[in-house]
Amino acid sequence: RKYQDSQVATLVAVTKSNTKVQLAANIGSPADMTAAIKQGAEGVGLFRSEFPFLGRDASPNEEEQFAAYKAVAEQCGQHLCVIRTMDIGGDKPLHYLNINKEENPFLGLRAIRISLTRPELFITQLKAILRAAAYGNVAIMLPMIISAAEIAAARRFVNQAQVELTKEGKAFRAAVPLGIMIETPAAAVIARELATECDFFSIGTNDLVQYTLAVDRGNPAVSSLYSHFHPAVLRLIDGVVKAGHEHKIWVGMCGEMAGDLLAAPLLTAMGLDKLSMNAPAIPRVKEVIRRFDDEQMRQVLVKALTLKDANDIRSLLIDFVQQAE
Ligand code: PEP
Ligand code: MG
Repeated sequence: RKYQDSQVATLVAVTKSNTKVQLAANIGSPADMTAAIKQGAEGVGLFRSEFPFLGRDASPNEEEQFAAYKAVAEQCGQHLCVIRTMDIGGDKPLHYLNINKEENPFLGLRAIRISLTRPELFITQLKAILRAAAYGNVAIMLPMIISAAEIAAARRFVNQAQVELTKEGKAFRAAVPLGIMIETPAAAVIARELATECDFFSIGTNDLVQYTLAVDRGNPAVSSLYSHFHPAVLRLIDGVVKAGHEHKIWVGMCGEMAGDLLAAPLLTAMGLDKLSMNAPAIPRVKEVIRRFDDEQMRQVLVKALTLKDANDIRSLLIDFVQQAE
């Protein structure tokens, strides 16, 4: 380790060629902001807004949600605060929504699919987010998108939320960016089309790896097959970044891969604009980005994309990262 974490917090994440990568924090509640700020996070790249819904008997109301979102938006200051609409279902069931038990919850009524079928829940959340946006630099992010139609439907709910807030005379910001998570293979494959419908992409590798490889992200029996270095995953990510940039929108990543220091050279070379991770990972990812110039990282990316096996790619990256230590 070259630096203490406390020193790294004040440095920016730039390569030796001066290419900047924004490093943001993944959080589940306003309380997580203390650690995020201490580690030098440039805002929040993923606020998992379902956490305030868990461990209770009913959904938090608009005021409760507004208070949580406002607290985080204010702590982000000038930086962007990306609030993901609730990602309930899958591994995060909610008994009070009375969703039928499913054989395959990860392929079932989850995330945006619940939001679009439960307008009362979705509009309440959107109203709380739009109100919080009056206090900071807030963006809305939709989870588990597979089609442009879902983005259009969500946008109609955003408009409806604005109409209701106007009627109720509540202060809010109308111009809030709307982005999507790229965490299904479908979204990655049609990224070019989706890019014209939204303001940013954030790649969710936890689910993207699970759905691309057909490997349950939580099942220890298949965990040796679960790797974000699988060539299929790397090619999807590379394509998503290119698709987003062709359409002039920023592309970030907020899955666990973004906090993997071995992945940092590849992701930087692919051109990811923002990496969002759990706060403790920020200093080490930053340190790796600062260690190389763009050409070194481009070369290791080109080499990685020729390899056929996730383990070989990982070994290549271990050697690469260590060589400069
Ligand atoms: C992801 O899928 O990578 C992601 C960030 O979302 P979550 O882990 O909350 O499913
Ligand atoms: Mg996910």
